[in-house]
Parts: sequence; structure tokens; C-alpha cells
Amino acid sequence: MNIAVVGTGYVGLVSGTCFAETGNNVICVDIDAKKVTRMQAGEVPIYEPGLEILFERNTRQGRLSFTTDLAEAVEHADIIFLALPTPPGEDGSADLSYILGVADQLSHIITSYKTIVDKSTVPVGTAERVHATLAKNLSTDLFDVVSNPEFLREGVAVEDFLKPDRVVIGTASDRARKNMRQLYEPFVRQGNPIIFMDERSAEMTKYAANSYLATRITFMNEIANLCEKVGANVDMVRHGMGSDTRIGKRFLFPGVGYGGSCFPKDVQALAKTSDMYDYDFRILKSVMSVNHQQRMRLVDKIKVRYGDDLKGKTIGLWGLAFKPNTDDIREAPAVYTIEALLEAGAKIRAFDPEAMDNVKAIFGDKVHFCEDQYEALIGADALAIATEWSVFRTPSFQVMKELLKEPIIFDGRNLYPLELMEEKGFIYESIGRTIVE
Ligand code: NAD
Repeated sequence: MNIAVVGTGYVGLVSGTCFAETGNNVICVDIDAKKVTRMQAGEVPIYEPGLEILFERNTRQGRLSFTTDLAEAVEHADIIFLALPTPPGEDGSADLSYILGVADQLSHIITSYKTIVDKSTVPVGTAERVHATLAKNLSTDLFDVVSNPEFLREGVAVEDFLKPDRVVIGTASDRARKNMRQLYEPFVRQGNPIIFMDERSAEMTKYAANSYLATRITFMNEIANLCEKVGANVDMVRHGMGSDTRIGKRFLFPGVGYGGSCFPKDVQALAKTSDMYDYDFRILKSVMSVNHQQRMRLVDKIKVRYGDDLKGKTIGLWGLAFKPNTDDIREAPAVYTIEALLEAGAKIRAFDPEAMDNVKAIFGDKVHFCEDQYEALIGADALAIATEWSVFRTPSFQVMKELLKEPIIFDGRNLYPLELMEEKGFIYESIGRTIVE
């Protein structure tokens, strides 16, 4: 099939590349001309494990190409994906100007039938609004609008896209359903479902899934906070809970709050939708407020130890990305941690395997960025850990002790067993476990 993907970010580039990998011809469009030039020159502009090899193969074999010209991209397309940003607007609701803007452009360009797919995360009713925008200038015989929310996780996006747990497709059109089934069948050969439903339910499914996951993490964060007070160990509690098949083991890890480009904005947008429909979604409001506090957990612990004024203190910071295996720092707890530490007067020596350029773009020389994780400890009073990159899991504790002024670790991701920290002689503060002194 011929596919156009509008918006070549984390979702658009991964989707486009994976559709090319299954034999389709894909043209990706983006308004960011610099990004398009880099991709045309063979450079993958984001870090996502496994993407580069597919990108290289499919561009070389001519199935994947890039342009800034929307008309050129959609001319021969059977299906047009909109993988555009839907950032929070001023009131917290999803800003649909990118989606509706492109829908309007398409309404002036399209001359033959296209299936137009909302891949972005969009509030209930958006497929209808996209339809109405297109219908202003275009006969309704020439298009269908489908809601096809994306569930990939950054860091394992390629794997998730190639083998999705499920594909959700919202449409009332037989023609669009047939096109979408044909496109997605190669991805579900192991029997995972393609679930067809109406557009509104598909749009709601995405928000419900993300909000549930954010709630689950937040619940565990509160259990962890209480564990600290009552002297329980949240790791044990997590094992004990997660072994119940009704609960399950995944997504129960407490930490310094959820972040990333999706959970914070999607929870907020669903809460906003609830308000608009006069429904008081109380759990979501609590989730947002708890997460707001949880993001400050490391800073709070640092201040309890050193006092509110951190002038003269240097903190080594491991991990900046909102989670491992990505360079994405949108709503990353580490960014909030840096802001608060700087405000309290601390100096920061930071290291992240992939995300340092993105953080440099925000803080410039206010933060000292290091070549490797150990350099971040030179002359530091303590280490704080904000992202659980594998490379931090089994460090040389001896070298760490030699470099740090005092062997103190504030661990926002519970990377190390308490007994190990005791044995190695560290003062160790983690989440939901007793302090090792
Ligand atoms: P992104 O910011 O990484 O990418 C968006 C791209 O769209 C950018 O490259 C931007 O230059 C481009 N763009 C903006 N306006 C454009 C226009 N008029 N024409 C062409 N290109 C334009 O965003 P993302 O993370 O890929 O997210 C896209 C959507 O997918 C969002 O709604 C998001 O909520 C949803 N989503 C994201 C993830 C994720 O893990 N990142 C997962 C599932 C769903």
C-alpha cells in the first residue's frame, strides 16, 4: 500500500518505518525542514533502539522517504496517518490546532479517495471534528476518518509497533476497515487482536489506558511513601501484590513520579474532558496532585539531609531522560529535580547516556554535563539517581566511594538492594524502603 505519515516524531517515524518494513511505500512529511534534511541524508533524528537498522534498510530499498511537501506526500497515498503533536493547551485540554490545521490543508489537496487516520492521542469527538473540517471543502465520498490510537512505549517503540498487544481501530466505514485490516494484519500474525469499534470508543480507549497506568504508578508511589513511614519495604510489598494474577507484576515500580510526553498530558486532557461533560473524575485529580509532589521526592530527601539551602553542595545526577532507552526529556522528573536543586543553590554534575543534548538546550551551562557517570561524581557531595538506565545498575561502588566527598546516594529508582548498600558502606536513601545509614 502507499502510505503518507504526517508528523515525523517518535510516533510518526517509528510507524512510518515499520509500515515500510512490512513492504509498504511510505512517505513521511514534516514541517521541520532541518529534521527532514537530516532524515533525507540518512540520519535518524531520535534515539530509539532498533530503529536505525530498519530506517537504513527501508530508505536504501526505496520504500521510505521524507519530504516537507504535504501535497507530494499524499498524492498517491491510500492511507494518510496524522501523527502530529497534541500538546496541552492553556486550560489543560489537548491542543488540536496541528491536527485540524493539517485536515484543512488536506481538504484543499485531496482529489481521490483516502483513508485518513488519527494516530495522535486525541480527545473524544476529534474524528468527527476532523471529518467536519475535511467536509468543508471535500466531497465525503473522497475520504473516511479513522481513529487508530498508538500504544507504543518509547524505548521499546519498534518492538511494540512490530508486535502490538492489540491494534485499536475506530471507524464506521467498511472501506476504511478493509484498508486498515490489510495494513495491520502482518503485525498480528501471532494472534493478537485487531479490535474494531466506533471512533469515540477508540479515542477513549487510549486515554483510559494511559490514565489507568498513571494511576497504577501513582498508587504504588503512595504505597511507597507510606512504607517509608511504617517501616515496610515496598520491594517486598510489590512482589507480594504483583504475584496475584488479578494484579500482575508489571507497572508496579515506585519512583519519582511519572513523566514523559504522554501520561502527564493525557491524564490532564482526560480530566479536562470530564469537566467539559460535567463529570467530576476525582481519581484523576488526585493522581495529578500526588504526581506533582512525587516529582520532588528526591529533592525533598536531599533537603531533609542538608537543609533547604543547598548553597555549597554539589549533587551528581545520573539519568535525565524520563525513562531508560530514550533521549526524550519531556516532563522528565530529572528536569524538575534540576530546577529545584538549582533554585536551592546546589551545583549539578549530570550524566545521561542519550538525553544530555536535550537537557543542555534547557539549562545550558547552569548544569555541568559529564562524559561518563563517574565524572559526575568528582567532588560531588552526593549522588542522585533519576532514571534507571542499565548502565547504572552494576557500577563500581569502590570508584564511586573514591570520587564522592561522602558515600551518599539518593536513589529515585531503587536500583540497589539495601543489604548491598550496607555491605559497601553507603548512606542510601531510596523510595519506599528504610534508609541505610
Ligand atoms: P513529536 O513531537 O515527537 O512529533 C511530532 C512531529 O510533528 C514533529 O516532528 C513536528 O515537527 C511535526 N509537525 C508539527 N506540525 C506539523 C505539520 N503541520 N505538518 C507536518 N509535521 C508537523 O510527537 P510524538 O511523541 O510523536 O507524538 C505524536 C502524537 O502521538 C501525540 O498525540 C502523542 O500524544 C501521541 N503518542 C505519543 C507516544 C510517544 O510515546 N511519544 C505514544 C503514543 C501516542
